Amino acid sequence: MTDIQPLTLITPTAPMSAGVHGGRAKCLQRLIRLEMPVPTTVALSFGAVNGIAHGQMPDMEALMAPFGDQPLLSVRPSSLNPDWGGPSAVLNVGMNDARYAQLCKDIGVTAATAIYMRFVQSYAIHVARLDPDEFYLPDVATVESLHAMLATYEFETDEPFPQQAKVQLGEVLRSMARAWDGTTARLLRQAKGAPVDAGLGLVVQRMALGVGQGDCGTGVIEFVDANSGLPKIVGRYVNQSQGRERIQDVAGAIYLTRDDRGPSFEEQCPEAFAELIEYGALIRRKLREEMQIKFTMESGVLHILDGIRVQRSSRATVRIAVALANDGIIPREEAVMRVEPAALSELLHRQVDPKAKRDLIVRGIAASPGAASGRIVLTAAEAQASAARGEPCVLVRRETTPEDIRGMHAAQAVLTMRGGVTSHAAVIGRGLGLPCVVGAFDLTIDRKKSEISGPDGRKFAVGDVITVDGTTGQVLAGAPAMLEAALDGAFQTLLEWADEFRDIGVRANADTPADAQAAQNFAAEGIGLCRTEHMFFDGDRLGVMREMIFAESSDDRRAVLERLLPMQRDDFISLFTIMAGKSVCVRLFDPPLHEFLPSDKAGLRDLAEQLALPLSDVTDRVHALSEYNPMLGMRGVRLGIAIPEIYDMQAQAIFEAMVAVGEAGVAISAEIMIPLVSAMREVELVKARVDAVANTVLSKSKSALDYRLGVMVETPRAALRAEDIAEHASFLSFGTNDLTQMTYGLSRDDAGRFMSAYVQQGVYAEDPFHTLDVEGVGELVAMGAERGRKGRKDVTLSICGEHAGSRTAIAFCREHKFDYVSCSPFRVPVARLTAAQLALAARVNNKTDT
Ligand code: PEP
Ligand code: MG
Repeated sequence: MTDIQPLTLITPTAPMSAGVHGGRAKCLQRLIRLEMPVPTTVALSFGAVNGIAHGQMPDMEALMAPFGDQPLLSVRPSSLNPDWGGPSAVLNVGMNDARYAQLCKDIGVTAATAIYMRFVQSYAIHVARLDPDEFYLPDVATVESLHAMLATYEFETDEPFPQQAKVQLGEVLRSMARAWDGTTARLLRQAKGAPVDAGLGLVVQRMALGVGQGDCGTGVIEFVDANSGLPKIVGRYVNQSQGRERIQDVAGAIYLTRDDRGPSFEEQCPEAFAELIEYGALIRRKLREEMQIKFTMESGVLHILDGIRVQRSSRATVRIAVALANDGIIPREEAVMRVEPAALSELLHRQVDPKAKRDLIVRGIAASPGAASGRIVLTAAEAQASAARGEPCVLVRRETTPEDIRGMHAAQAVLTMRGGVTSHAAVIGRGLGLPCVVGAFDLTIDRKKSEISGPDGRKFAVGDVITVDGTTGQVLAGAPAMLEAALDGAFQTLLEWADEFRDIGVRANADTPADAQAAQNFAAEGIGLCRTEHMFFDGDRLGVMREMIFAESSDDRRAVLERLLPMQRDDFISLFTIMAGKSVCVRLFDPPLHEFLPSDKAGLRDLAEQLALPLSDVTDRVHALSEYNPMLGMRGVRLGIAIPEIYDMQAQAIFEAMVAVGEAGVAISAEIMIPLVSAMREVELVKARVDAVANTVLSKSKSALDYRLGVMVETPRAALRAEDIAEHASFLSFGTNDLTQMTYGLSRDDAGRFMSAYVQQGVYAEDPFHTLDVEGVGELVAMGAERGRKGRKDVTLSICGEHAGSRTAIAFCREHKFDYVSCSPFRVPVARLTAAQLALAARVNNKTDT
C-alpha cells in the first residue's frame, strides 16, 4: 500500500490491510463489505498508534468528524494476531453530564446512571490509573453513588472528571497506545510468538448502546461448539430492555439465568435471530472461518459490532478445518495448513483437563506426551503385580534399564529421576504411547521407606496415587480430571489429505506387535527401526539369554541360541503379518551384553542358582563383562563380529519368518540393518554371514527371499566413510541419538543433569537430543548422505533417531532428499502432517520464486 493514512474511515473500498490496521479493523471492513449493519468505525494504523505512544496525537477533529455531535464511542485494540492480546477495550467514551442528562430522559435514570458509572470506573482505572478498589460498581447504580464516584475521581486527580469527548478520547488513545508499549505487554505477546516490533492498531466505533425503547441488549453468538468443533449455536444475550439487566441464552428455549425463567433471545427476537443466523453463514463462507459475532439490539434494531475468530480446542481446530474444506469453503491444502501438528499430539493422548486443579509434586522433562494416574510402585515387579490386581500404577525409578520393560508395559506411566529425552525410559515410553517424565532431579526416592518426596519435602508412599503429565513434564498429587484422546473421523480425514501432499515417507519405530499395530493404525508406511533387543527381555527369554552369555564355547552358544530361534521367529512372523505388504526394517542386536545381567547381589545369587554355577564364577563373569564406557564398547556390530552366532540366529529367524508368512500369502519387504558400524569391513563381514544364512534357509524352502541389507549410520566415522560403506549397503539409516551422543561427546543418559543450565545460558540453543543440531550433527548427516549416494546412486536414505518426528528433522530430510523418516508410532500422525505442511509451504515458495 503506497499511501498509508493514520486514520481511515472504514468503508468497503478504503485501502486497509491487517498488516497495517490489525486483524480486527480488517475484519470489520469485511463485515461492512458484506453489507452488515456495522456502526460507523474509524481505524488508526499501527504507525498512528505508535506515534500516539510517543506523544504525537492524530488530528482529533478529523478522527471525531464521522461520529457527529455528542458521540458515544468505543475504542478496541486491533493487533495483527488477536492472540497477542492488547489493552482492554474502553466503552462509552464521550459520556459526560450533558449526555447523561439526555440519556436519563431517553432510557431512564437507572440505566443512564449505570452507563455513566461504568465509563467513569473504566476511565479511572485504565486511563487515570487509579486504585480499582476506589471505583467498584454498586449492585444498583444510584445518582448518589455516581456523584460519590465523580467526587472520588476529583479527589484523587485534583481535577474534575473530563467532560469533553475529544479530551476523553485523546486520553483513552494515549493510555492504550502506551499500555501496548509497556514491558509486561511486550513480554507477554512475545511469549505468544509476536515479533519484537509487533504493531497495535485501534478501532474507534460509534456505540450502539443496547439500551433504549423496545428490544435492547447486547450479546455474542457462535455457530460451533468450541470444544468439539461440531455445529451448535451458543452464546449469551444481556437483555437490557425496561431498564433491567437479564442474561439469556442466545438460542433454544432456555431460561433466564438470574432469578426468573423466560425465553431465549431466539424466542424473544426471532427476526433478529434469523438475521444473525444468515450473517453467521455468510461470514463463515466469506471470511472462511468460524467467527463469534458480537451484536447489540438498539430499540429493536440489530447492529453488528465485531467478528472474532472462535477460540477453540485442538479437537475443534481439526473438525472445523475439515468441515470448512468439506463444505468447499477452503481448499484441502489450507485445511492441512491450519492445524498445528502439536495439536494432533494432544488428541492422541489423554490429557489433564485444563480446568482441573494441579497439585504439583515435582517437575521434570516432558519425555512422552499424555497423562495418566496410578498408584506409586518402585520396581518393575511391583508394577506387574499391580497390573495383575487390576490397579493402575505409575512406575517410579531412578532410571529404567531394559530389565524394566515388562514393568513399563504393566504401568500407566513412568517417572524417572535421571535421563533426558533419548534415555531408555523416554524412548520406550514414546514407543508404547506411555506418558513419561524423566530427569526429575528434585525427586527423592527412598526404597527402604517405600516412599518418594518432592523438593518441598512432601512425602508420597508406595500405593499413593499420583499423576504423570508427560505433555508438560509435571508430576501431580492425586488424580485430576482427564480429557480422553479424540481420534475421530475428522482426524483421519485430515491426515489422509496430508498424505496427498507430502513428499517424504513416514515409517514407525516399532519393536513389538503392539507397537506395530499402533504403527498400522496411524498409517505408517512401514517399520523403519525394530530394535530386536527388547524382544530378549520378555518371558523366559532373559534366562536363556543369560545362559547364552555364560556359554563356554561357540557350539554351546549356538545350542542355547537354538532355543531362542523359534521365539525370535514368532516375533518376526507377528510383525510381518501385522505389517503385511509393507517394509519392515529389523535392526540386529545392539546393546552391550551386561545390560542382560543382574547388578545386585540377590540377582547374582538367582543367576548362579539358575546356571548351577558357583556365585563367585557368576560374579567374576559379570565383572569381566562390565565396561568403563559401555555405550562406546562391545555393542552393536562389534558384538556381531566378536560373537557372530547371535546375528546368525537373528538372520535365520528373519528369513524363516519370511518364508512362513510368504507361505501364508503375506507379502513383506524385509530389511536387515547393522547397528553402530564404523568401518566398511564390518559390513562386508556381516553381509557375508547373513547372505550365507539366507542361502541355507532358501535351500530348504521353495520360496525366493527378497531382502535388503543396510547400515545404521550412528558413528561419526560411518558418516565420513559412507561412500565405501554404501557399496555394501542398500540403505543407510541415520541413528541421530548415538550420532548426537558421539558428535558432541555427550552421554545421552547423563546430559539431562546439566542440559537446562546449558540451554539457559545459551551454550546450546536447544537440547540436541530433542532438536536435531542441524549445524553440527546435521552437517555430518548431510555429508554422509552425499557420500553414501556417491557409493551407491540409488541408496535409500532415512533417519530413525528420536529427532525423526520433529519439524526440524523432517525439514532437513526433505531438503536433503531423504526417502523417509522413522519415528515412534504415536509421533507418526504429527510427522505426516508436518511433512505435508512443509511440502505445501515449499510449493508456495517455489511459486513466488518463479
Ligand atoms: C539411534 O542411535 O539414533 C538409534 C535410533 O538407536 P538407539 O536409540 O536404539 O541407540
Ligand atoms: Mg543407536
